[in-house]
Amino acid sequence: MQTHAQVVVIGGGVVGCSVLFHLAKFGCTDALLLERNELTSGSTWHAAGAMHTINGDPNIAKLQKYTIELYREIEALSEQPTGMHLTGGLLLAATEARFDWLKSVLAKGRYLGIEARLISPERAHELLPLLDPSCFVGGLETVLDGHLDPSGTTHAYARAARKLGAHIERFTRVEQLVQCADGAWRVITNKGEVRAEHVVNAGGLWAREVGHMVGREHPVLAMEHMYLITDDMPEVAAINAATGREVVHAVDFDGEMYLRQERGGMLLGTYEKACKPWSEDQTPWNFGHELLTPDIDRIAPSLEVAFRHFPALQGAGIRKVVNGPFTFAPDGNPLVGPVRGLKGYWCACGVMAGFCQGGGVGLALANWILQGDPGFDVWAMDVARFGDWASKAYTNAKVRENYARRFSIRFPNEELPAARPLRTSPLYERLKQAGAQFGVAAGFEAPLWYAPPGVRDTFSWHRSNDFATVAAEVRAVREAVGLIETTGYAKYRIQGADAGPWLDRLLACRLPPPGRMALAPMLKHDGRLIGDFTLANLGAEGYLLIGSGVAEEYHLRWFQQQLPGDGSVALTTQASSLAGLAIAGPRARELLERVTKADVSAGALRFMEIRRLPVGMSSALVGRVSYTGDLGYEIWCDPAYLLHLFEGLMSAGQDLGLRLFGSRALNALRLEKAYGSWAHEYRPLYSPLEAGLQRFVALDKSASFIGQAAVRRELVDGGRLRLRCFVVDTENADVIGDEPIWWGETVQGWVTSGGFAHHAGVSVAMGYVDKALADTSGPWSIELLGQRCPARLQTRPLFDPDGARMRG
Ligand SMILES: Cc1cc2nc3c(=O)[nH]c(=O)nc-3n(C[C@H](O)[C@H](O)[C@H](O)COP(=O)(O)OP(=O)(O)OC[C@H]3O[C@@H](n4cnc5c(N)ncnc54)[C@H](O)[C@@H]3O)c2cc1C
Repeated sequence: MQTHAQVVVIGGGVVGCSVLFHLAKFGCTDALLLERNELTSGSTWHAAGAMHTINGDPNIAKLQKYTIELYREIEALSEQPTGMHLTGGLLLAATEARFDWLKSVLAKGRYLGIEARLISPERAHELLPLLDPSCFVGGLETVLDGHLDPSGTTHAYARAARKLGAHIERFTRVEQLVQCADGAWRVITNKGEVRAEHVVNAGGLWAREVGHMVGREHPVLAMEHMYLITDDMPEVAAINAATGREVVHAVDFDGEMYLRQERGGMLLGTYEKACKPWSEDQTPWNFGHELLTPDIDRIAPSLEVAFRHFPALQGAGIRKVVNGPFTFAPDGNPLVGPVRGLKGYWCACGVMAGFCQGGGVGLALANWILQGDPGFDVWAMDVARFGDWASKAYTNAKVRENYARRFSIRFPNEELPAARPLRTSPLYERLKQAGAQFGVAAGFEAPLWYAPPGVRDTFSWHRSNDFATVAAEVRAVREAVGLIETTGYAKYRIQGADAGPWLDRLLACRLPPPGRMALAPMLKHDGRLIGDFTLANLGAEGYLLIGSGVAEEYHLRWFQQQLPGDGSVALTTQASSLAGLAIAGPRARELLERVTKADVSAGALRFMEIRRLPVGMSSALVGRVSYTGDLGYEIWCDPAYLLHLFEGLMSAGQDLGLRLFGSRALNALRLEKAYGSWAHEYRPLYSPLEAGLQRFVALDKSASFIGQAAVRRELVDGGRLRLRCFVVDTENADVIGDEPIWWGETVQGWVTSGGFAHHAGVSVAMGYVDKALADTSGPWSIELLGQRCPARLQTRPLFDPDGARMRG
């Protein structure tokens, strides 16, 4: 075995082989895959081999499309058949709510180039005569769906990689990973040692155990999964004879099952509610080409539905039941990318649909390792969407929930209940008593809205029962004063002799002088947005950077990659050492004046200034800034004082019309100011020019900053897209995100977020459109639940376009 490699890939399942293939394809032939057994010896060999493009998340759908389109390439290169059968697909809806979901999926597919169309139950029956059309309200017919041979496909990746010059060692188990002082990895196997610059954990069923070798607990868990194969069925033979084709690949969401033809019979798999984790604590190293004992009772409820929806199955004998384990991350998406604090260690695990997603995972990871960037937006599968809070027990609860809900509808206003509450603020119980309906982000509970007693969210694609209450919360902010907790934001303290110069290079903005704040875009080297923050210069206390709570791990990884190794800059997260409240509205100053003896008059504490002030009996950092676009203040304190501050503000504000508001009201408020938010308007896909953040980029500052050259180039060519705000003509539903934006009869963009702007009284959508059309008056429309709703380009913010309120 070779003793050095640029990259060692651990694991020869479909994912590891795809990573190896992509590395070799991009010229990295000094790549070595180590497999403890034969290739495919984890979950790969017993997969059902189904593949489809459709996914609720457009970025994952793109990845799936790429994966399926790749199979012809690896087949040709390797001369190894993948056994691919492109049968076409049928997604079935037995309820109107599911049909609405399919409409939204179809709409998203439009700008991804996914071919699909909505069909009636009768057309579904024509495509799949095994079904009873009276059980369904409609369906979606797709093109790029089918199935393949899992083993053939994995070997096709492997052979293609070898042909391109990469290497594979089978029966070689990685037993230890040790990082050397120079950052290289000692990969210690049962057959000797390899020194590598990079190691990739593609350990599949053993990804957790490989993680333990580097001291990390990756949030993955294996679940048992069953599918059964029927005896040959005359009905299947009849379809084949009549159409000259195989039976289409179908997903019956309400029956929570998928089915496809397998030889002369049908293969039927289910995601049963009574799901079962496998090897919760330790995957045995001697597990290989074995199957688990089937438990038909567990899937009996799904089979009952199957017999009703597909009556022909009632008479079919069962030839075989397969029960095998495969891994999931807590949200069901892959875990890909570099891991914070472990230079040269990469994850390609938790891939629950290796035959739909494996190609895209390999592409992203190979790009990332070789170019320093995945090359497309991988937020949905970035390993950094989970932090230390995603413990083993959390993962266990969330993976079970995810498995059991794999084919369930998740409504846009639906919060899932498993593993909660996990991270809470000292105000949690107090806010709960006030009616807070909590949402969760990065494991942290934050109020969405404050419901009247006894009222809970009704889940819907349409406006829901929170509408009037959220409107009242918005009204309180616009007419009096509102209070929202901000503890869930990410907060970082940057100190040390070189803190200023380091931030100057990290961030594209001009650094604020002591006592002031600035909006701070952070860019990658290619000039795309990797963060948007508020930066406060606290003088002797250093700098405070405030950003998105869900991106904390993601940003920490980036910060740590950029930190100098000489200790001249110290960056610490203040996740649990700084808590926050924000007050906003025309009476916010009056409220603040009642709880502090300091002078906070308009002239003494100006817009974008920040001070440490006595508030009540404690001391707090008070910054004059507000995401509501109104007069407002953010108040940051030690969590021990949060309750004291909160109670002080609540009692002082009683006669000012003070009201608690949640993130749904905040969304409505920021939409009418056309403020973007991280993971929606601001993502690594977009440049500051495209996102409307160019004015915060200080191209002429004395320090050079990351992404500066790319920004300069883009100013010349103008970029491709523009972020725009639209008022949508809609009755009872608002956009959620990812809906297509039409200009005349063509799709020219996509929605990033939106909702009802209660103060302005209109439905708003923000989204990116082609630059050439961005300033035209239309004809614009936005597709919402299958309808094209006329939309009006909103060129100025709907609320206070000159910013007089927040500066007043
Ligand atoms: C019953 C069933 C049906 C399925 N149906 C489908 C389907 O229809 N479509 C679909 O897309 N997906 C399906 N899947 C899921 C699919 O099988 C997985 O997504 C895929 O196999 C994941 O591949 P992997 O390479 O990540 O992991 P694995 O296949 O588990 O591969 C990991 C490999 O790493 C090796 N390894 C681990 N640790 C070490 C070490 N320390 N040293 C050396 N080697 C090591 C293992 O031996 C193994 O070969 C199904 C799964 C099951 C169980």
